[in-house]
Amino acid sequence: MEDNKEEVVSKNFIEQEIDKDLAEGVYDHVQTRFPPEPNGYLHIGHAKSILLNYGLAQKYGGKFNLRFDDTNPTKEKTEFVESIIEDVKWLGADFEDRLFFASNYFQEMYDCAILLIKKGKAFVCDLTAEEIREYRGDFKTPGKESPYRNRSVEENLKLFEEMKEGSYKDGERVLRAKIDMASPNINMRDPVIYRVAHMAHHNTGDQWCIYPMYDFAHPIEDAIERITHSICTLEFEDHRPLYDWVVKECEFANPPRQIEFAKLYLTNVVTGKRYIKKLVEDGIVDGWEDPRLVSIAALRRRGYTPESLRMFVDLVGVSKANSSVDYAMLEYCIREDLKLKRPRMMAILDPIKLVIDNYPEEAIEYLDVANNLENPELGERKVPFGRELYIEREDFMEEPIKKYFRLFPGNEVRLMNAYFVTCTGCEKDADGNVTVVHCTYDPETKSGSGFEGRKVKGTIHWVAASTAVQAECRLYENIVDEEKGKLNEDGSLNLNPNSLTILKNCYVEPSFSNAKAYDSFQFVRNGFFCIDCKDSREDHLVFNRIVSLKSSFKITK
Ligand code: ATP
Ligand code: MG
Repeated sequence: MEDNKEEVVSKNFIEQEIDKDLAEGVYDHVQTRFPPEPNGYLHIGHAKSILLNYGLAQKYGGKFNLRFDDTNPTKEKTEFVESIIEDVKWLGADFEDRLFFASNYFQEMYDCAILLIKKGKAFVCDLTAEEIREYRGDFKTPGKESPYRNRSVEENLKLFEEMKEGSYKDGERVLRAKIDMASPNINMRDPVIYRVAHMAHHNTGDQWCIYPMYDFAHPIEDAIERITHSICTLEFEDHRPLYDWVVKECEFANPPRQIEFAKLYLTNVVTGKRYIKKLVEDGIVDGWEDPRLVSIAALRRRGYTPESLRMFVDLVGVSKANSSVDYAMLEYCIREDLKLKRPRMMAILDPIKLVIDNYPEEAIEYLDVANNLENPELGERKVPFGRELYIEREDFMEEPIKKYFRLFPGNEVRLMNAYFVTCTGCEKDADGNVTVVHCTYDPETKSGSGFEGRKVKGTIHWVAASTAVQAECRLYENIVDEEKGKLNEDGSLNLNPNSLTILKNCYVEPSFSNAKAYDSFQFVRNGFFCIDCKDSREDHLVFNRIVSLKSSFKITK
């Protein structure tokens, strides 16, 4: 069976594990989750995790949960909860009605702790944080047992109850799992599972003054939700034995299992929260959704689509080894996604006027122009044409360089979708800068008229001046350049001074006038652009360049 073989080969290692679990009857269903901590905006790496988990649930006819891992009362904010929900939905990862908060399981977690104490598997410890660290040992030295390790079950129950009732200050006592101080895995050396923290929690308020530690809480959250495959990033690999210990000792039937994969890193971008925060605070970027960043909100504002991010995540694949992916691959994906879907329009970023001296003065002609030559389904539009046009400044040279096929005195070019014109000269200001270019047109050469008299080497685009809409275009480059070094000697970011170029005097066709936020277009020769969701107004259009048309990235099979 040829087909079958192909399918097996293309499966990633996580799918192979799931297949095995299902075949061996370890699980009879698949349930995954995305468990963000609501302490910041999601970024492209999180998109990978979301789409991976959601994709697996889809593939196996299972379910996907969104769960906020909000067990840590210090850092979490409702603002982040809302932005995360929006981003997950936008990516298309449908969690249906399964939106959960780990903080809603505090009672179950507490009950698990009591169970461990009763089984003699947990104890209240009075050592300070400092002492606990000393006793823990390191890779070479085995740990030393806490003098409080052998407290009786009754005493532990009483002390833990008092911890819960608020009898102790932060850090005064903790609850620790009783596992093995000689374990070669330091995570197994009687890890702390509950701490005292007199802090209000965004969901539970002042109800609790003890909070579970991540390594204890996370497996319980998964088990309560009947997650089968708890997929996380590589740094948790050494924590897996503790994960397994928790679900086993807390006596969950059919417990989940943890599988790790490598984080996604991108070149030439800033993903660390610390750096982004600094860029925001220093006013170098326009908040967390500045189009040069790779938070999901920033990518959306820049004009990336959920489809392009899904394609990117699929191309990157799932692996066990950390590596960086070239930013150009992300650009490749958005080009691929937009090239057939979006209309190709004419827009002038750096305008200069072109006057056709033999064209009737007040006349406006409406030309039929295909919206996308490669996709006839997008239909046609009418584009006004007249005596005065805007063209790109670089499309005229008074003294042409070699192999320059655009406008220069005496040369004939095609005006895209319109007529052939021959350049007759130019006007200049006192400083010698060209202000207007002149030409004449040949009425016989109208595009689509079947004219086949002669060929020209250059085609240039244009926008009719009398109906043009003035617009602002923002061009972006990477905010840091990996090749030049991401960091300066003092540890600060080595910023690219050209990461943002604002062009205020651009001209676009009148058909743009009803464009809305996030609408995107191909601008002939200049790239793909998207209406900025934050700053664009009906009477002042602002476009973000999503990506230029040329690609340095090739998919090699
Ligand atoms: P960061 O510190 O970059 O915000 P995090 O791991 O602290 O990341 P969490 O909210 O704890 O963020 O993570 C939610 C989920 O997203 C976790 O399962 C985590 O493993 C995963 N994740 C985080 N960063 C990446 C990444 N770069 N690539 C893939 N998955 C990631
Ligand atoms: Mg985190």
